[in-house]
Formats: sequence, structure tokens, C-alpha cells
Amino acid sequence: MTDNNTCPLCGAKDDSDEHIIPKWLQDQFSLKDQLVDLKNENTLQYCQMRLPICSECNGYFNDHLEQKVRKGDAIYQEYYLWALKIRYFAGLKDTTLRYEISDPSKGSLVSDKSANIGNDLITHLLTNLDNDNFSVQPKPFGSVFLCDNPINDGKFGMGDIAHPHWGFGIELPDNKLLFVLFMDRGMVKRDMIRIHKQRHRSLYDYLLDRPHHTNAGGESTNFLIKLALFRLLAHQLRIDNIPLIKNYRLNENGVFAKVPDKVKYRDKKDINIINLRKLAKYCQLSPQVAEYYYQSL
Ligand SMILES: [Zn+2]
Repeated sequence: MTDNNTCPLCGAKDDSDEHIIPKWLQDQFSLKDQLVDLKNENTLQYCQMRLPICSECNGYFNDHLEQKVRKGDAIYQEYYLWALKIRYFAGLKDTTLRYEISDPSKGSLVSDKSANIGNDLITHLLTNLDNDNFSVQPKPFGSVFLCDNPINDGKFGMGDIAHPHWGFGIELPDNKLLFVLFMDRGMVKRDMIRIHKQRHRSLYDYLLDRPHHTNAGGESTNFLIKLALFRLLAHQLRIDNIPLIKNYRLNENGVFAKVPDKVKYRDKKDINIINLRKLAKYCQLSPQVAEYYYQSL
């Protein structure tokens, strides 16, 4: 649990509250009283999605990440870190919520162990934002996608998928959509760009294509984000040599990881439809989305 009164990043006293979904974004889309879906199918208001951290880290994130993302002038690695912070803090928040409110014996929504997977890497990245001598290789450290939202409904959408899939999608100001895969070292993006170039269309035409095979979810930004996130994470599942959390090196000069030169695919027979259906469920999509994807392989 994160209730020992210390900041999860630096260990100082947690004397401030971080809005896990930033306050400026909540204001932009009037989210304060709207509901976020939790893993146990309960909900929480956006304004309750807060995590105690220290005021110094809070101000530091505001200066080095929030303002850049808010104004749309962040670089891909900064979008990566901004999304990583939300995902990490949302996981820590889940360790403080009960799986079943009336039954403490069922434990927390997420175990400390799973919320803290990769925390050495995450805290190292998030506490070196102002260090000019700090290198990250590859950079960005995962796949980062930023594109225009073809549905101009002015509504907010978000998809937040925990380890081991580890992906995130969110609507930003100016009708932009951001998607991040945290641990693929950029392999999914590189591979998908290559494939769609061969098919003479952009990756984003594929990613944001609205389905004709199912009308579940209809035409909303929130549905589109979840669908695009599913397509990205399903592609990640097809690649056999994604490093995920393993094999990175941390030192005072930075974070270093090897990226395989060539993508190795799993055979179709090794791609488990059950895993795809589970992934669709995590993305709050119907199993038909998984069936359709599987047939298209
Ligand atoms: Zn701190």
C-alpha cells in the first residue's frame, strides 16, 4: 500500500495530492464528477483519482511534463513519460482500493507486487526529467502515437491497460489522441508503419478505422480509443521477441535497453484466441472484436 505517508518517487513526506488524470485535462473535458471504470467493475469519480506525493515532485512534474503536454509541445519521450506516470500512479491508487468494498479479506484491487512491476525503471525515468546528462536508449522507450481524432464529438476518452500488456490511450486538447505502449521499445510502431506502408496506407488509417463488423460502442471517441489500443496491443501479442519488462540497464547516466533488429512473429496457431478475448475485455470491448481480429490474421 502507498499509505505509509511517503512520496512513492522520492521517499519524502507526501504532503500534496497528485491528480492522476491531471486537473487541467479534467477541466478541459469537465470530467470532475464523471466516472472512471475500475478493474472490479466499480467506478470512481475523476476528482477522486488522486495519489499522495510530495509537493516537490508535484511541482517538478508540472514544470517538466504537464505544461508541455498541455500546450502540445512535448517530444515523444515526454509524452511517453507523462502517460507512464498516469499508468504507474493509477496502479498505485488501485492498491489502496478494496476489491470488494464490503469484504476486506478479498484484498486490494491490485496487489503491491503487480503495481510495482518495473518501479525501479519508472522512478529512475521520472526523477531525472531535469537532468541534461541523462540518456534514454531507445528514445522514446516505447511506442508513442499522436494523431488527430477523426470523431469530433468533443468528448473525453481513455483506455488504461496494466501489465503485462501495458498500454495507454487518451484524448488530449485540440482533438488529439495519444497512445503509448510502455515496454515494446518502439518495436510495434516500427513494424506497423512498415506493414501499412506496403499496403499503401498510413498506420493511422488502419488504427482509427471504425469497424463495420460490430456496432458495439458506436461512434464515440472513448470507443475509438479502446479499439485502437486493442489493435496496438494485439499486434504486440503477435510479436514473439518483444522485450517487455526484461533486459534494461539503469545507471546514473540513464536507461539503456537493446532493441531486437528484426521482429519475430508468432505463428497464427500460437496466438491464443483466449488471450485476444481477454485483451478485448481489458479494453472494455466485446469478444467479437477479438474474433474479427483473429480471423483477419
Ligand atoms: Zn517526491
